[in-house]
Amino acid sequence: MRVLVLGAGQLARMMSLAGAPLNIQVSAYDVNTETVVHPLTQAVLGKGLLSAIEACDVITAEFEHIPHHVLDTCEQSGKFFPSADAIKTGGDRRIEKALLEQAQVRNAKYHVIQTRADLDKAIEHIGTPMVLKSALGGYDGKGQWRLKDPELANNIWLEMEQCIEASDNQSIVAEEFVPFTREVSLIGARGKDGSIVTYPLAENIHTDGVLSLSTAIADPELQQQAEQMFSSVAKSLNYVGVLALEFFDVDGTLLVNEIAPRVHNSGHWTQQGAETCQFENHLRSVCGLPLGSTKLVRETAMINILGEDTLPDELFKMPGCHIHWYGKEKRAGRKMGHINICGDYSGELQRRLCALANVLDSQAFPAVHDFAKNFSA
Ligand code: ATP
Ligand code: MG
Repeated sequence: MRVLVLGAGQLARMMSLAGAPLNIQVSAYDVNTETVVHPLTQAVLGKGLLSAIEACDVITAEFEHIPHHVLDTCEQSGKFFPSADAIKTGGDRRIEKALLEQAQVRNAKYHVIQTRADLDKAIEHIGTPMVLKSALGGYDGKGQWRLKDPELANNIWLEMEQCIEASDNQSIVAEEFVPFTREVSLIGARGKDGSIVTYPLAENIHTDGVLSLSTAIADPELQQQAEQMFSSVAKSLNYVGVLALEFFDVDGTLLVNEIAPRVHNSGHWTQQGAETCQFENHLRSVCGLPLGSTKLVRETAMINILGEDTLPDELFKMPGCHIHWYGKEKRAGRKMGHINICGDYSGELQRRLCALANVLDSQAFPAVHDFAKNFSA
C-alpha cells in the first residue's frame, strides 16, 4: 500500500514510522511547495499534486488548514480518507460548531461575528467572560481573544476586525467561557466498515496555549461520556480514520471543545502506552484494514519538547523513557519532539515524572516541574 499524506510535518513522519513494518509506504505532500517529499528525510520525491495522486493507493491528511482546491482534487480521485468535508469541518470553527449541534453533543454556546454589531449581539447572547476565536487558521491557541467585561469590547474589536479583513471568508466565533476543572481528549478510529475503537482518555495540560503534558487516565464514567460523543461525531461525518475530540471536564460533565480530523498530539502517548499506536490505527483505517487493539499496555505520559533541540543524556538511562525527535530546525516554541514516559504499576509513572523534573530544565519544561511540585506537596 502507498499512502500519500497531505502535509509533511511530524505527524506524517510518525505515520511513516508506524507504516513501515506493515509494508505501508508513506509519502508526504508539502502543500506549500507542492512537492512530494520523504516524510523522514524530506528528500524530494516528485512534483505536482496530480502525479502524486496517480502514484498512490490512498490519500489522507495530517492537518486541517489545506486549500480547498487541493482537498477537492483529492476527493475526486476516490482515494481520500477521511474526506474533504471532514477536513474542512476541522479547519473552520463555524462548520465545526454546526456539526456539534447536528450531532447533538454538548458544547459551549456560540455566536458568529462578522461586524461590530455582531460582537454586541454575541455579548447579549452569551455574556462575559467570553472566548473569541478566528473561524479559520487557528492552532495552538493562536487567533484567540478573551473578553472579560463588555466595556472592553472596543479594545479587542480593532484586532478582530483586522483579522476578519486579512483573509477571505474569515469571521470570529465567540464562545461562552467554560469554567472547566480540567481538559481531556479522546482519540479513536473508525474503519471503512463503520467499526469504532477508542483509546483511554488523556488529560491535557497546556502552557501558553500549547499542549505540554498529556497523560492517559482511567475514568470509566468520563470515558463512557466521551465515547458516546465520539461515536455521534464520527457517524455524522461518516468518518474513516483517526479522529480526536478535545473536551472540557466541568465537574464530571464533558463538553466538546473542538475536534481534529487526524492523528493528534494528545495521542502520541499511544506509541508506547497502547497495544496499537494511533498512527498505525489511522493507516489501518484509511487502508481498509481491521483496526488494532487500543488497550492500555503501560501507564504513559507524553511531554512535548518545545523550542529545544537537545536533551540531557541522563534521559537515555531512565527506565520507561522514550525520546521522539522530529528532525526539525530549532525555533522558539516550535514542537521539536516529545518524550513518552511509562510506568508499570500504580505510582511508578508519577515517580518517573518527578525524576524527569530533576533533569529537565524548568524554563523549557514547566509542566513537568509543576507536576513534580504538586506531587510532592
Ligand atoms: P490546539 O490546536 O492547540 O488544540 P486551538 O488553537 O485550536 O488549540 P482551542 O483548543 O479551541 O484552540 O483553545 C485553546 C485553549 O484555550 C483550550 O485548550 C482551552 O484551554 C482554552 N479555551 C478554548 N476555548 C475555551 C472556552 N470556551 N472556555 C474556556 N477556555 C477555553
Ligand atoms: Mg485545542
